[in-house]
Amino acid sequence: MYETPAGSHFHIKWSHQNNLDWECFDNFRDATNRAQELARPGEKFTIQMVLTTCPMKGFKAKLSNREERAE
Ligand SMILES: [Zn+2]
Repeated sequence: MYETPAGSHFHIKWSHQNNLDWECFDNFRDATNRAQELARPGEKFTIQMVLTTCPMKGFKAKLSNREERAE
């Protein structure tokens, strides 16, 4: 399995787009399953790990929500 540093999560990166997909995934397998569901025939993707800070504007990762509960 992949080792995931604390706070990290995953995004789908479609081969025809410059930006990562907006959706955050807790683990590599979920991201891969979702990408395979969404992919149109012949469409390619990679799964990219995002460390700590989500680059997606206006979307907080599930992981960060979990940490905020302690407040
Ligand atoms: Zn994210």
